[in-house]
Amino acid sequence: MKCKKCGEKASVNMRQHKLALCKEHYLEWVPEQTERFIKKYEMFTRDEKILVAVSGGKDSLALWDILHRLGYQADGLYLGLGIDGGIGYSHESQRLAQKFADERGLKLHVVDIEKEYGQPIPVLSEISHRGHGKPCAVCGLVKRHEMNRIARDLGYAVLATGHNLDDEAAVLFGNTLNWSSEYLLRQGPVLPSSDGLARKVKPLCRFYEREMTAYALARGIEYIYEECPYADGSQSIYYKELLNQLETTRPGAKLTFYLRFLEARKRGDLFIEQNIEHAHLHACPKCGQPTSTDDYCSFCRMIEKVNAVSAK
Ligand code: SF4
Ligand code: ZN
Repeated sequence: MKCKKCGEKASVNMRQHKLALCKEHYLEWVPEQTERFIKKYEMFTRDEKILVAVSGGKDSLALWDILHRLGYQADGLYLGLGIDGGIGYSHESQRLAQKFADERGLKLHVVDIEKEYGQPIPVLSEISHRGHGKPCAVCGLVKRHEMNRIARDLGYAVLATGHNLDDEAAVLFGNTLNWSSEYLLRQGPVLPSSDGLARKVKPLCRFYEREMTAYALARGIEYIYEECPYADGSQSIYYKELLNQLETTRPGAKLTFYLRFLEARKRGDLFIEQNIEHAHLHACPKCGQPTSTDDYCSFCRMIEKVNAVSAK
């Protein structure tokens, strides 16, 4: 296999694009494509301050690296979840995120959940009895809330996450199986800002996971190889495996699935009521973030419960 640009030996072959590239041209191609997606979906401009949610994994660090190379004003945010799982998961991922930032002279905000709320994620989950023995429900709630809060408090207009095509296709697959119309309407490369929350963007949403692995390796980015220990056996991993099987026999199936969805949504072809989305949102009286109840938002209710139990 030869590089399409220079004829040297190719190191990455992308069957879905019928494109093979050598390392050097691959490292040019990825930021070029990212820039194209940023413009196409009107994600942000060079005048806006961007907060990149970094987990220490390949996707978020690759995203930060790409935005930095493209000359965007991108700072990082690391949320310390306090997950050990016998491998010191949080500790090691924080070390790698910090190392990445230090080596490039980039600014990384670190927020430790245990310091902020008294307990690490697994304990918050246990005490609040949410999520059937897995901390993922509470973890998702806390991550969303904290990313919104920090972007707002520190004045970032844009919150960027490293979701790749495999992530997005798996979420889309799950939402389609359940016909979760509200989620389907909100899924896409950009979620516009509303109710005082920053705009959310996913600049890597059209790259396959293996393309991001190849990018991170080729750039010599040190990242945490292990997944979070709680990810094991999760539904999204199962959906990813199914989609990978499909991709093996039909190269490009994942990309087509996602892109055709975006096109249909844009045309208004989804046979879904367009107005359910913003029905009855209020500002939480405690934290100010939008919620569908009249009362405190789910995050603040969860913290209340934890505090009540801990005070006993
Ligand atoms: Fe949080 Fe993801 Fe780990 Fe679940 S798998 S605890 S959501 S980081
Ligand atoms: Zn709240």
